[in-house]
Amino acid sequence: MKMSPVELHCHSTASDGTCAPSEVAELAARGGLSALALTDHDTTAGLAECQQACARLGVDFLNGIEISAENPYGTMHLLGYGISSASPVLADLTRRLIEGRNVRNPRIVGRLQELGLAISMEEVEQHAGGEVVGRPHIAGVLVKKGYVSSINEAFNEYLAPGGKAYFDKERLSSAQAIAMIGKSGGLAVLAHPVQLNCSNDAQLETTVKNLVDQGLSGLEVLHSSHTAEEAAKYTRLADRFGLLKTGGSDFHGSNKPNVQLGRAANQLVPRAWFDRLRERLGQ
Ligand code: AMP
Ligand code: ZN
Ligand code: FE
Ligand code: FE
Repeated sequence: MKMSPVELHCHSTASDGTCAPSEVAELAARGGLSALALTDHDTTAGLAECQQACARLGVDFLNGIEISAENPYGTMHLLGYGISSASPVLADLTRRLIEGRNVRNPRIVGRLQELGLAISMEEVEQHAGGEVVGRPHIAGVLVKKGYVSSINEAFNEYLAPGGKAYFDKERLSSAQAIAMIGKSGGLAVLAHPVQLNCSNDAQLETTVKNLVDQGLSGLEVLHSSHTAEEAAKYTRLADRFGLLKTGGSDFHGSNKPNVQLGRAANQLVPRAWFDRLRERLGQ
């Protein structure tokens, strides 16, 4: 029986990470992790490569994806575990999400141009290298051209809400997102609940209760942006609602230099959480 820790939230070059899917698998093996779920934003393009590398390295693998949903107060990201890459519902979902990016990204770049920065969509697309083009790629081009000194500075100055070139993208409702993950054969898990930006615990509870009514299966209790107190609070909440517990680092390679694969703010993600996910999926 495998006991060593797992990683259930990470990104590759298929979205906005800087390691190829097979490199993420190699890092997992080298770090002594026994299982990995790759959760790129809005795409399944990296899953096959990551799965093959994991099989070669003796790391158990689970398909994943991370998608955004509407939230009036902050960010809502939903992880989909065990989704089937061949699902037509999933293909429809990722197509819609990428269309939303393709509307938003040129608006951001257009505003940056108005602000006098020499940057083009072609440069951003080339830097991204795949079908998912996101703000970290725009940030990377701004760093490369010397307009800012770090990805973080690019977000603070231009790309984060309140920044000079911020534009939102169209999102699905949480009910739609959860239903589509379910129809794709997956389990929906609320990512990094701290980023919901709830103003108090009652609001957090109401939000989670609504998501559970919509079909939510789990809560990401361990994450690199959670304090130990927050992780304990989300653990109690998951247990109270009978939700699966998950965790991960949200590794993005050098796009998030302080985040290490397999580390969720100094905590490790227990193997049992991966086994329970797989059990629930019937895999
Ligand atoms: P997008 O999906 O294109 O809207 O970009 C959102 C992604 O940008 C998030 O998933 C993070 O990976 C990344 N991100 C958000 N804020 C920051 C930040 N301050 N520094 C670095 N990356 C960030
Ligand atoms: Zn990301
Ligand atoms: Fe996220
Ligand atoms: Fe993520």
